[in-house]
Amino acid sequence: MTKCRFRTADVSKCVHCHICQKNCVFLAKYGIDIGDTDRLNELAYHCFLCGRCSEVCPVGIDGRQVVMDMRRVQVKQDDGVFVNKKYKRTISEKEDYQYRNYKHITEKSILFPGCNFPSVYPKTTKKLAELLQEAAGIGIIYECCGKPIADIGMKEKEGKIVQGIEERLLTANVTEVITLCPNCYEYLKKNISIEVVNIYEKLRELELGDKISGGELLFRPCPDREKKEWLSDIEYFMESSCSLIENIQCCGLGGNGGVLEPELAKGFAVELKDISGIIYTYCGSCSGNLTRNGCKQVRHVLPEILGTHEKPDTIKSLINRMKTKYL
Ligand code: SF4
Ligand code: SF4
Repeated sequence: MTKCRFRTADVSKCVHCHICQKNCVFLAKYGIDIGDTDRLNELAYHCFLCGRCSEVCPVGIDGRQVVMDMRRVQVKQDDGVFVNKKYKRTISEKEDYQYRNYKHITEKSILFPGCNFPSVYPKTTKKLAELLQEAAGIGIIYECCGKPIADIGMKEKEGKIVQGIEERLLTANVTEVITLCPNCYEYLKKNISIEVVNIYEKLRELELGDKISGGELLFRPCPDREKKEWLSDIEYFMESSCSLIENIQCCGLGGNGGVLEPELAKGFAVELKDISGIIYTYCGSCSGNLTRNGCKQVRHVLPEILGTHEKPDTIKSLINRMKTKYL
């Protein structure tokens, strides 16, 4: 069967071919397909929201969306009791982002590093902020895009977060948001009216950054797997193309699936950790989480392009993030 170009959350179309199950460690663990909705609904918070099932379904069922819809309904049904218990820390930090800092906002363009990149790459974040300020008067804001709350299924809170971000940016006359994280990019692009670009196209436009050798393995973050928008901009900075890692579905951090499936989440890194040579990534969450779980050869492309060669700081990541409030 070939892949379907159209996407639907209508699970009644499921023909139980088991292709999603064969491509997902979570579905395989429980022996279910996306079309097994009763069981999937019970296990909705075990999913990594990676979207692999949506990519491979021959009849176009968007499994990721099916799970998202289930989570939203559950939050509504129990008034958020379950998620407030299980994801307390994430919710208390991100529903009204604790480390928000708009002191360095500028008109027109701003750098939006998100919450994870500055947590694991504080030196590179600082260097990049200085470079963009010097080259083009571009400021920086420290903010969470709202995706972690959206992924939990808290639709109402998600709406308030994006509305708040948009209002603050429009009030400051921001017309372009430069993202470092493919998750922020994908999420903000869908949810705010301001133009959202990725850092690699901006660096190229401003003629900043060095070429790196490339020619190694490359682990792509979930949001860029299908469209490969970031990948094509990153390839400009590589002397030779990398081989793509296709068989690992997620870094383990996606969709908060790791909270209820810690072993599956660690397993993704375990499969990569004995590979020799560098594994490049372009997502701070992926590089941090894979490193934390033993895959020490992971390198984010941005510190390499900017010459900091910083390795992910997985020990002080929370402290680094807290500090952004006072920068
Ligand atoms: S791949 Fe699609 S059709 Fe096949 S079992 Fe999964 S959801 Fe059903
Ligand atoms: S989104 Fe990913 S983890 Fe969730 S069911 Fe689909 S393939 Fe499995």
